[in-house]
Amino acid sequence: MMKRLLPLITIAALLACAGPAPLSQQDWAIHDPDRPLPPVVDPGPPGPQVPPPGDAVVLFDGTDLSQWTDAKGEPARWKVEDGYMEVVAKTGAVKTVKSFGDCQLHVEWMAADPPRGEGQARSNSGVFLMDIYEVQVLDSYENTTYADGQAASLYGQFPPAVNACRPPGQWQSYDIVFRRPRFDQDGGLVSPARLTVFHNGIVVHDARELTGPTAHKARPPYKAHADRLPISLQDHGDPVRFRNIWVRDLE
Ligand code: MG
Repeated sequence: MMKRLLPLITIAALLACAGPAPLSQQDWAIHDPDRPLPPVVDPGPPGPQVPPPGDAVVLFDGTDLSQWTDAKGEPARWKVEDGYMEVVAKTGAVKTVKSFGDCQLHVEWMAADPPRGEGQARSNSGVFLMDIYEVQVLDSYENTTYADGQAASLYGQFPPAVNACRPPGQWQSYDIVFRRPRFDQDGGLVSPARLTVFHNGIVVHDARELTGPTAHKARPPYKAHADRLPISLQDHGDPVRFRNIWVRDLE
């Protein structure tokens, strides 16, 4: 009796030691130009700004960059004017003074009008959760690029479910629910980063699990990091504008 049970016990023990099931691999190669583009959906005109809820941390209210620094922790050098901040090329990304893990983030952005450049060179920026995981900002209004790099893509991994871009010169919004990845004491991945994203009020990612950090032409594996890190906005050299940025801590 014992003899017959042993192999079963061995298999059960092996399964128990194996840890969480491996992440589902991406079916599409990174930046594959043949990956189908999501359908275009008109989100309608921009509405009034969404006011920050009472328990939100206001990261930018249109007046100053006191909640932001440059990559080195020095004062951020982006332009602030008429209630928005604008990327100043070559000054680098800006990141929040405070750090966040799980959070709800509201960001409004505007692509340059008239548009300049094509593909990835048209009003490229990005919202980086934990300074690692990018929700792409790009003028994808009548501007084609690879599907996993268009506006509201989880860069290099997942295109948005639909292309909900407004024309350049109009304010757009991202509402993001972010769950940070969890790591065990040895730095092993317990659960991946998860994002739900609304672009102009339209759901474009529903609890999507990232395969690791977002990157250009690469899908690197997860590497253990702190539970809380700054949120950052990308300087890709284009004069993208941002306003009304607030976050709710979900930790
Ligand atoms: Mg970008």
